[in-house]
Amino acid sequence: MDYMNETGRIFDIQRFSVHDGPGIRTIVFLKGCFLRCRWCCNPESQEFAVQNMVVGGKTKVMGEDITVDKVLREVAKDRVYYKRSGGGMTLSGGECFFQPKFMQALLCGAKDIGINTAIETTSFSPYEKIEQALPYIDYYLMDVKHMNSAKHKAFTGVENGLILENASKLARDAKNLVIRVPVIPGFNDTEQEISDIAAFAVSLKTVEELHLLPYHRLGKDKYIGLGRDYLMGDAPLLEQVKIDSLRRTAEKSGLSVIIGG
Ligand code: SF4
Repeated sequence: MDYMNETGRIFDIQRFSVHDGPGIRTIVFLKGCFLRCRWCCNPESQEFAVQNMVVGGKTKVMGEDITVDKVLREVAKDRVYYKRSGGGMTLSGGECFFQPKFMQALLCGAKDIGINTAIETTSFSPYEKIEQALPYIDYYLMDVKHMNSAKHKAFTGVENGLILENASKLARDAKNLVIRVPVIPGFNDTEQEISDIAAFAVSLKTVEELHLLPYHRLGKDKYIGLGRDYLMGDAPLLEQVKIDSLRRTAEKSGLSVIIGG
């Protein structure tokens, strides 16, 4: 595959992350998303268009068209840390499958130079696109946000049918599938909702790990910077006692449960 000159649009590259996959990782954030989650902490990721965002009183351009070659040169700078820690490159967003060709080229290029790969995704995409990328993905981190389709649509803009259907196929086809749940007040922060998602993850048979990602407000200022309303308002952060209780609920499923990740 001639991937080095493939061009796509990103809005950030973060080095030395210890989230979103094992070890020390470089996270490449792709622009564009099919969903509009109310709690999204990267609102600058959602539109594919290049945007201006005011950060700390200064206007920053969010979105850069870049070749695979240039991204991989940046990623390869930390190769020595990946080797020591079992880390690598993670593609995030936005939604990576919003730019499937670019995503696949990045993954394929990373594998060709011996770098471990992960993606962080909701997988709201035709399965053919997912299937094509699977040979180049070492860790597949997939969000399952809610089991009730109407509620999923009310809070994210889309129903959950395609996502759950893809999760079943991924359980059969993907390496190291991990289910991740953003735990959001007023949406899915009850024992019942977490228990339902854990039961679904167990039903997939090949999933061993569930990540619970507690709601935070780190993206709030970005909404202001983009001239948008922050739809979560003053929703409270989850108390530690509640997080611990939801973790115990999820653990009853037999899965290994990690907070954060
Ligand atoms: S799927 Fe992720 S990037 Fe897309 S809107 Fe939801 S939280 Fe934001």
